[in-house]
Amino acid sequence: MKKRTDFLVIGSGIAGLTFALEAVKVGKVTIVTKANLEDTNTRYAQGGIAAVFSEPDNFEKHINDTLIAGGGICNEEIVRMVVHEAPDRIKDLIKMGVSFDKKEDGTYDLAKEGGHTEYRILHHKDRTGESIQKTLMEKVRNEANIEILEHYFAIELLTQHHLGEVVKRNYPDVKCYGAYVADLINQQVITLLSKVTIVATGGIGNVYLTTTNPEIATGDGVAMVYRAKGTIENMEFIQFHPTSLYDPERKPSFLITEALRGYGAVLKNLSGEKFMNRYDSRGSLAPRDIVARAIDNEMKIWGDDHVWLDCTHLNPEGLKDHFPNVYEHCLERGIDFTNDMIPVVPCAHYSCGGIKVDINGQSNIDRLYALGEASSTGLHGANRLASNSLIEAAVYAHRAAIHSGTRLNDLTFEERIPVWDYKGTTHLEEMVLITQSTKEVQMIMSNYVGIVRSDIRLERAMVRLDILYEETERLYKKSLISKKICELRNLINVGYIIIKMAKNRHESVGLHYSIDYPKRASSEF
Ligand SMILES: Cc1cc2nc3c(=O)[nH]c(=O)nc-3n(C[C@H](O)[C@H](O)[C@H](O)COP(=O)(O)OP(=O)(O)OC[C@H]3O[C@@H](n4cnc5c(N)ncnc54)[C@H](O)[C@@H]3O)c2cc1C
Repeated sequence: MKKRTDFLVIGSGIAGLTFALEAVKVGKVTIVTKANLEDTNTRYAQGGIAAVFSEPDNFEKHINDTLIAGGGICNEEIVRMVVHEAPDRIKDLIKMGVSFDKKEDGTYDLAKEGGHTEYRILHHKDRTGESIQKTLMEKVRNEANIEILEHYFAIELLTQHHLGEVVKRNYPDVKCYGAYVADLINQQVITLLSKVTIVATGGIGNVYLTTTNPEIATGDGVAMVYRAKGTIENMEFIQFHPTSLYDPERKPSFLITEALRGYGAVLKNLSGEKFMNRYDSRGSLAPRDIVARAIDNEMKIWGDDHVWLDCTHLNPEGLKDHFPNVYEHCLERGIDFTNDMIPVVPCAHYSCGGIKVDINGQSNIDRLYALGEASSTGLHGANRLASNSLIEAAVYAHRAAIHSGTRLNDLTFEERIPVWDYKGTTHLEEMVLITQSTKEVQMIMSNYVGIVRSDIRLERAMVRLDILYEETERLYKKSLISKKICELRNLINVGYIIIKMAKNRHESVGLHYSIDYPKRASSEF
């Protein structure tokens, strides 16, 4: 079956939905999303969204904080653009109905997180993402020219490869004509032709064993674009959030927002020592990579499974009012954070790299844009400054919609793309082959490609992943399409890219730390 749409948007988080709401002003939009509309990383965002809103903050301070966190690898032109456009995108969200907390005097209740030198995080309690997701969903559901296809899984991007051409990585002019998308409920693959395709598929957290990301975050967009011969960059920079609730049985890991440390909570080791001061003069408010490595080190030195986050010295009512989500969640597990310390561990949280895009979100593949966490814009460099990701998605979604909208009249559907070929494929009888391989990928990545890396660990990871790659490709070719096998394939692709990029970086910078190259190659920054 073939379908046609002007804008094919893959993903229903802040990036995909914001794009859709702007693009619908000039054309028909189809959003495909592999689970329910609300199943996104966006919904989980707690801390907030960063923008300069009032004095003494100013653009230069936000730019500077972002550049410092990025370890000299950010693109300064992009940082300047995002920081300057951020307040307008926040105003758009407010206009659409997102409400950010205010103080009694009517000004915004701005929070501060690690790495920020000023209070500039707008938030809705500690449920900012939920509020943004809900508002955007209401808006897209009210647009007649936005079609929403839930439980539709994008498998493969359509390029000249599907017209029989040999498309290699140095192919001069790859074009994207849409995607093969599996309707998971009716179990059929649809050829979705588009004039413009948007990859807004979010993060990669499930490449690792423990992650704050929901189960949708399997790096599908990065893997699809890589296979289509698009450029991927900076994938070695995986942010491990320093403080997720220690609870080995639970997936995804529950994040204890950094804003709690901004509010005064302090990290302690199991002996009760405020160990962060030994690692950084900013103590518990040092940037995430430093805090995550420090916790990892404390746990390794003492052989402990977690450290403590202590807020018992803070005003109990203020805590409950500002962090109701964390409070309720901890209470469900028998931890009253006004009296008890919270056990925390670092876990995979955010991918700073991704599909390389230009200032308008356009990838090196013509007619293909990438937005949000799946993209690499140059904003984050080697490490993301907290709360800079929601705003990056909003800024780029706006720019990409305007940029691609101006091209729409010049583009046509590529009707020669064939429908999906089911020949030679059958139902997979043993799902254990997939579930076991998925666990193996996650073990390999967590054990060898985590917070601290080395040449020998990376080499070992590559050799083991290669075996899984060969096995999975053989299985994929003879199996009918299922979500699980596609995700496994994508996890392996993403794992491979992370390892390859980590191996190529002979220095320690930002989120990439190798014991074989403990220093920064260039000391400019
Ligand atoms: C616990 C947590 C807390 C966070 N807190 C903050 C914060 O306070 N501030 C901040 O700025 N950032 C925060 N982040 C990061 C931020 O939430 C994400 O980077 C951002 O929401 C990503 O938005 P997105 O639109 O790119 O992707 P997502 O919101 O993840 O949406 C991805 C979409 O793509 C769909 N999809 C994926 N693959 C396919 C496929 N093959 N076919 C079809 N659909 C597909 C998914 O189903 C989903 O709809 C947090 C993240 C987490 C997990």
